[in-house]
Amino acid sequence: MGLSEQDRALYAWQLDVPGFGEAAQEKLRNTTALVSRVGGLGGPLAFQLAAAGIGKLVLAHGGELKPADLNRQILMRHACLGQERAACARETLQAFNPHVEVEAIPENINPANAAAIIEKVDIVFDAAPLFEERFLMNRECVRQGKPMIDCAMYNMEGQVIPIIPGQTACLQCFYPEVPPHWKRRFPVIGAVSALVANIGALEGIKLISGLSPVHAGQIIYLDTMNLDVRKIHTQRNPDCPVCCDL
Ligand SMILES: [Zn+2]
Repeated sequence: MGLSEQDRALYAWQLDVPGFGEAAQEKLRNTTALVSRVGGLGGPLAFQLAAAGIGKLVLAHGGELKPADLNRQILMRHACLGQERAACARETLQAFNPHVEVEAIPENINPANAAAIIEKVDIVFDAAPLFEERFLMNRECVRQGKPMIDCAMYNMEGQVIPIIPGQTACLQCFYPEVPPHWKRRFPVIGAVSALVANIGALEGIKLISGLSPVHAGQIIYLDTMNLDVRKIHTQRNPDCPVCCDL
């Protein structure tokens, strides 16, 4: 089934992008994506996927909205203080693009829910701040053969890693363990997390739609203080505890 007139009207400006077009838009519309955590990084990332016309978003994010979240979590609103963040994010996205289906799960990814949630999506956008969650999604994506766009930031630095199981290194090929001294709370300006989010969203949109090149297996590293972007090639680790059997 091709695009409707409504689709053509909504996405007219991106349909003009060379190499994109109607077939790419259809692929986006037929895709379900998990965005794990919709805070300072996952929030703007989910926003861009909704703007681009992804078919369905599954948002996984636990906890209630606190004042300190509002310097960066742009899917939230002051009126939602004290309420579940996942539900607030869904409301914002649905108001912005009612043609995108949004499912809000008020839990972070954990060992009890990871497999079932990832089973119902085509691609995972990992914006979780804790390595335990990132490792869990990485392991499930490798097991289920699903691509994952891993996004992370700290202070003025960020990185995006598009991972394709069986083709590229996985997250644990180069992070065998949780790095020492990793802290849950870290310094962040919303413009920095949104910048990393936009690169993650773009790499995912390229991967889904066939718009190339996708920087699969590379660490796209940003130093936003100096506006320096580097691409670092990674290699699969034959001793990786997660993907060595692929
Ligand atoms: Zn690996």
